[in-house]
Amino acid sequence: MHFQLLEQQITCPFCWESITILIDPSESQLYTEDCSVCCRPILIQTDVHGEDDVSVQVAQEDLGF
Ligand SMILES: [Zn+2]
Repeated sequence: MHFQLLEQQITCPFCWESITILIDPSESQLYTEDCSVCCRPILIQTDVHGEDDVSVQVAQEDLGF
């Protein structure tokens, strides 16, 4: 089965800029990605409910959820 990466807009929890991240919709994931604006580590939690139904939570990496 082929999954296309989903573009999702999030708000950086450090600098509050809107940035676009790519999400793998094949499974729920927890990972860290550096903000493309301020380069600080954003903790990203994706919850996949369906092919086009993915919810994303973000937090500062050192604080967690
Ligand atoms: Zn940022």
